[in-house]
Amino acid sequence: MSGIFRRWCKPACAAWRWFPPLSPRRNRKKRCSNCSNIAMPYNCRRGLNAMATKLTTSAKLITSANHSSPAALQSPLPDQQFLYYSRQLLLPDWSEQRQLQLQQKKVLIVGMGGLGCPAATYLAGAGVGWLLLADGDKVELSNLPRQTLFRVSDIGLNKAEAAAATLQQLNPFIRIDALSQMLDEAELVRRIAWADLVLDCSDNLATKLAINRICQQQQRCWLGASASGYQGYSWLINPASGGCLECLGHQQPLLPGGCLQQGVYTPLVGQLGLQLASMALQQLANGRRRRSFVQIYQHHQQQFSQCQLLADPQCKCCGVTADV
Ligand SMILES: [Zn+2]
Repeated sequence: MSGIFRRWCKPACAAWRWFPPLSPRRNRKKRCSNCSNIAMPYNCRRGLNAMATKLTTSAKLITSANHSSPAALQSPLPDQQFLYYSRQLLLPDWSEQRQLQLQQKKVLIVGMGGLGCPAATYLAGAGVGWLLLADGDKVELSNLPRQTLFRVSDIGLNKAEAAAATLQQLNPFIRIDALSQMLDEAELVRRIAWADLVLDCSDNLATKLAINRICQQQQRCWLGASASGYQGYSWLINPASGGCLECLGHQQPLLPGGCLQQGVYTPLVGQLGLQLASMALQQLANGRRRRSFVQIYQHHQQQFSQCQLLADPQCKCCGVTADV
């Protein structure tokens, strides 16, 4: 296979083709045998290495620059970003346009603990344009097994700021901001109104209910999760389809106690965090709004079960008697 170059016809037909070695000049002009469009030159083996070098250099420049807004809608995707997202772009239903649309999205993640770390990591890697991370806590030694964005050297630092710094290194093409204080009601209202999607990764019921109430008032779709012991829950709540978190209040044990009291199986929060990231990307990239649902994960059975979230007419938040 030595001397043979594999090139990727993108954005035309996304076909992989093998070509014999050509001079760089002729290589650039080679047309795809599948669709006759000019094949992109940088997916030959030689070009890929050159692009990786350029990416490393420019990442340092981008990281040190001040961002003022999510990446502007550009067409086509800049070369370095094309390379960064190349594996995702290979998916049959994922186009450059879809990637650019994702870069226009703004996501608020409340809580940068065991759920927030994996969720933010994969949203950043997928290319969500602007992440706002909120957490008023500091990194502690007992956080490290589950909160994978932190290291021993981060102990004592604010979680949101430490996570933002790490994630910016992971993806220099997006904007990541940190809110290092606990959000009061007014701040939460303002930040939720700003975001396209809200992820509740907090570890306390009061915050979850506040997010639920505000999202209900603003008719915003939001995602959340909760875990303790060997059992976890994740949910998507779309106020337009009815139902909210408070509708679950009487259905034990849908809102289990925190991991501080009951402990938590270490991989469980990672699994739920990744699920949140996946559901968020589906909402952001597809633009489809699903009906509200709850998923229950039982570790011992290695099983997910999903049920539709039905509205409770007597719910104080979204029911007929609600005062929101
Ligand atoms: Zn309700």
